[in-house]
Amino acid sequence: MSYSERINITFGETRLEGVEYFWEVMYSPLRRGKVGWGMAIEVPAVLEMIRLVAEGKASAGQLVELLERAAEKVRVDHEEREGETPWGADCPSEGCILCEGAKEEFAAIVEQTRVERLRFQDPTTYPYARGKRTLHRTACSEAERGIGSDDPRWARDDVQDLRSFAHERELSSSWATFMTMLTAEDAAGWIATRTGPRGGAQYKLCKICRPSIPQAST
Ligand SMILES: [Zn+2]
Ligand SMILES: [Zn+2]
Repeated sequence: MSYSERINITFGETRLEGVEYFWEVMYSPLRRGKVGWGMAIEVPAVLEMIRLVAEGKASAGQLVELLERAAEKVRVDHEEREGETPWGADCPSEGCILCEGAKEEFAAIVEQTRVERLRFQDPTTYPYARGKRTLHRTACSEAERGIGSDDPRWARDDVQDLRSFAHERELSSSWATFMTMLTAEDAAGWIATRTGPRGGAQYKLCKICRPSIPQAST
């Protein structure tokens, strides 16, 4: 989850107060794993720093060192607070075995999500949606939540999504769906496979949308 904080940066004789930075954002695939990876910093403050260099009040080397130190401090603070592995450290900038290994599975879930979301738009053909155990009507708010967001305004970061999936087994609803859309026929089949020989049900019917149990047409 990204968040912002402020730091004071002292540069030569100049002190920049309350420079805003963001953390856990902007994971550029081109600069993966480099110092400061995932961190964003207020552009007006950056301009001011560069201007100081241009005016000869500090050297470019000092500026680089200062920003690197700030980024490392943020990373270490974060690590201590959250008790997490340093971000990026477990994922090398190139040829990450974990990310490579998860690529196919990731692509399959992305594709499946695309298909399910298309089907979700067609409730006449796909009147039912199911999660792991529960059957819903497609119109149910729970089904909508489970199908997830594909809001195009939501900037997706495929590389970061893949990384979270590969390293942390994290499925975010921004790219993965938790629902399977069903025709009435599919739903009847699913219910049948989850009904024991004595009629025991290994499924649930959603208490919000109360779907009727579909009957197989054959
Ligand atoms: Zn990786
Ligand atoms: Zn429901």
